[in-house]
Amino acid sequence: VLILAIESSCDETAAAVVKNGRQVLSNIISSQIDIHTLYGGVVPEIASRKHIERINQVIEKALVDAGVTLSDIDAVAVTYGPGLVGALLVGVAEAKAIAFATGKRLIGVHHIEGHIAANLIEHKELEPPFFSLVVSGGHSHLVKVKDYGEFEIIGRTRDDAAGEAFDKVARAIGLGYPGGPKIDKVAKEGNPEAIEFPRASVGDSPYDFSFSGVKSAVLNYINGQKMKDAKINVPDVAASFQKAVTDVLVSHTIQAAKDYDMKTITMAGGVASNSALRQAMKTACAENGFKLYYPSPVYCTDNAVMIGVAAYYEYLKGVSDGWNLNAVPNLKLGER
Ligand code: ATP
Ligand code: MG
Ligand code: FE
Repeated sequence: VLILAIESSCDETAAAVVKNGRQVLSNIISSQIDIHTLYGGVVPEIASRKHIERINQVIEKALVDAGVTLSDIDAVAVTYGPGLVGALLVGVAEAKAIAFATGKRLIGVHHIEGHIAANLIEHKELEPPFFSLVVSGGHSHLVKVKDYGEFEIIGRTRDDAAGEAFDKVARAIGLGYPGGPKIDKVAKEGNPEAIEFPRASVGDSPYDFSFSGVKSAVLNYINGQKMKDAKINVPDVAASFQKAVTDVLVSHTIQAAKDYDMKTITMAGGVASNSALRQAMKTACAENGFKLYYPSPVYCTDNAVMIGVAAYYEYLKGVSDGWNLNAVPNLKLGER
């Protein structure tokens, strides 16, 4: 089964061809980061326009790299939510046009289902059930993956997503956008114990997250230092912030996996490529006897391969969307 997958939910225009769910024939990602960096974050209207300019070339390249033509394809998969509505619409309209013109099956995919499925690309032995810590630019979820496409959300963030906190803190300490990779890098030069930032928990629900408190604590610390005309040690701030966030992510994940009696833990989303988080989770999983999986960095951040992988399992279930498939900016995980 050959699936052409399209992803345009945020600021990456991406297309891929995936064979039998787990074999990557091509993976094309055209990032708009250079453009949005000028504005310190993603500008939705610009993102939509750039998707329109680039999507045909990106798809063409994905087909050429895979050595296939549209007639070889069995289904066209596309992210239809959640994400920026204008950005999503470009991919959805494109996928519908291709599927309609070629008479192929159309499969709408949930973006976060895609992020979770990214774990299946390089780990051929991995199968549900497993636990997943989803930490991306817009989501922080603890998810029990009961079967392919079947999810139970055990914990979620009450305010900022983990990636959002990285991006906001990076901006505050002058590292620019996107902040996650930059904090990851400078934190290597800093002392994670230098400054004590809060490890927030949500009283009544032990698996939920809250990252606005640690973000505010960093901002307050920076303002305090400025007021005193004191120096701000950027690597120390980055390392201490990163430690505060990863401590919470790891402890909640381990606790939930124990309570739900899950033996396998996966990580997904852009923040899953964070080196400190990977290291801390590795150590904790080894101590507690859990198997740990995470994708290579290129499959952690937005890409279309993960959409093709998730779509394959929907394909096997017989899912086929109609020409009324629409972009759903706030689509819930596990809903169709
Ligand atoms: P969502 O998937 O929730 O819709 P998104 O698609 O924007 O949001 P992703 O592409 O999964 O998010 O990930 C981007 C986020 O990951 C950004 O917030 C970025 O700062 C963060 N990120 C990327 N690399 C790292 C890293 N090494 N350390 C920490 N954060 C990182
Ligand atoms: Mg992005
Ligand atoms: Fe994403």
